[in-house]
Amino acid sequence: MIHNFNSGPSILPKEVFKEASEAIINFNNTGLSILEIGHRTSLFQAVLDEAIATLKELMQLDDGHEILFLHGGASTQFFQVPMNLLNENETAAYLDCGTWGTKAIKEAKLYGNVEVVASSKDKNYTYIPKNYTIPSNAKYFHYTTNNTIEGTEMLDIPQTNIPLIADMSSDILSHVMDFNRFDLIYAGAQKNIGAAGVNIVVVKKDILGKVSRKLPTMMDYRSHIENGSMLNTPPVFAVYVCMLTLRWLKQQGGVSAIEKINNIKAKLLYDTLDSLPIFRATVAKEDRSKMNVVFVIDDENLEKEFLASCKENGMVAIKGHRSVGGFRASLYNALPLSSVQALTDLMKDFANKKG
Ligand SMILES: *Cc1c(COP(=O)(O)O)cnc(C)c1O
Repeated sequence: MIHNFNSGPSILPKEVFKEASEAIINFNNTGLSILEIGHRTSLFQAVLDEAIATLKELMQLDDGHEILFLHGGASTQFFQVPMNLLNENETAAYLDCGTWGTKAIKEAKLYGNVEVVASSKDKNYTYIPKNYTIPSNAKYFHYTTNNTIEGTEMLDIPQTNIPLIADMSSDILSHVMDFNRFDLIYAGAQKNIGAAGVNIVVVKKDILGKVSRKLPTMMDYRSHIENGSMLNTPPVFAVYVCMLTLRWLKQQGGVSAIEKINNIKAKLLYDTLDSLPIFRATVAKEDRSKMNVVFVIDDENLEKEFLASCKENGMVAIKGHRSVGGFRASLYNALPLSSVQALTDLMKDFANKKG
């Protein structure tokens, strides 16, 4: 039995793997593979339409928001956002609360001024800064909802009257939130929505077209909107896998239903961590991520032993990110509760033997 705690690309529902593999041989009984159909066919248009409609329904988006499927991963959004929204003499506000946010800040500085409103760098990003002010004259405010590497998450949406932008790569659709509050949302699909190779951008149309710089057509959100995410060849298979995963999520009862299970999974793992002194969760309690649970064992030898024990018991990718060390268990939507139970049983067993 394999338990896949990968942080991304990561576990997807079994049903999705099965259907996607069948579609590689014979897509929808057409006798054709999904890999050999043209993107401008009615076959693929139906896939894209269903992906967009399902996402819109799951996020309960209003009509002012457009959904795009783009290339280049979330990392491309780090620069595409300021390129489309920030003039050189203007200032954007950023919250610095993790590795990915730091990268977004670096790219934004290529296009305009950046004001970092708060940072948790002083404590290795183990908490979310609070009580900061978002300047009301900034062009937009950008933050990362879930810090995949460090294991912190911001569940509440910051209060501001300037355009709100979020990188939701690792917790999109994991819990209910008012997505309409955002002017732009982006997420690499490979963590909670589908296969690598595509990212989702949700953008409010009326914030676009206001910068003075010239934009390459491929970088201009408006050209992608006009062309329905088919300005050039989209990543057909990756979009297809997203559509299947979104369809699966809808069948589970949508975001509110998966949130209940995600809460149970995260609670089980954190309660176990808190009850076993041999393990130590690394981030501030109130900021703990429900998607990426980061923890350590302070004794280096025991850490190695536990890692080996995980390996023996089919726990995949439990080793922490190289910049943080220790362990990281990613509990994305598709990870079953039984995998968290297997991990916590192993932890209890290990603590009993070594503690
Ligand atoms: C993984 C990740 C990224 C980078 O995504 P790519 O698709 O590899 O560019 C950006 N932000 C967050 C929060 C992530 O978890």
